[in-house]
Amino acid sequence: MLARIGEELRRLLGWISVDDAFADLFEGNERYAAIEHEVVESGVARRGLAILTCIDSRIDPLAVFGLEPGDAKILRNAGARVTDDAIRTLALAVATLGVTRIAVVQHTDCAMASASGAELAAAVAAATGSDHPTFDPLAITDQSAALRTDVDVVLGSALLRDGVVVAGLLLDLASGRLTTIVEPRTS
Ligand SMILES: [Zn+2]
Repeated sequence: MLARIGEELRRLLGWISVDDAFADLFEGNERYAAIEHEVVESGVARRGLAILTCIDSRIDPLAVFGLEPGDAKILRNAGARVTDDAIRTLALAVATLGVTRIAVVQHTDCAMASASGAELAAAVAAATGSDHPTFDPLAITDQSAALRTDVDVVLGSALLRDGVVVAGLLLDLASGRLTTIVEPRTS
């Protein structure tokens, strides 16, 4: 998978110049600003939900859950791992933004689960031309085990109040279907 991604990257980098790197995006924004879109008044998550999922560009987290802007807090990182910063964000979302339930959502065909930590670290070393011995890509060898661990980390955090419900889910990219890997639990 890393080889395939590297191939796509080389193709993309071939046409990006610094000056017009964002030009197509501002064009898109013109179209977005021109159409009427709902301005949700409050930053509180209407459905009391936070979704932690992967950065994979094939995932549309709101669509996956049948939600709309205003409904949920979305956190994303490579592999949907519960990192210190994920905990920081969840703690604030629970304390101030109405979050009462948290879904940790990994997915099929995830690059973080398809390569070893050594391979992913080597890709970063190759891209930068130097080794980074303390860099941990948080590669996933067993998605179910990683979900169990990560749900436990959320539930065990002293930064989240008791009673928040946490589940670990797997999204099948092909079917769009979610499977419960870690049943909803509360601390
Ligand atoms: Zn992924």
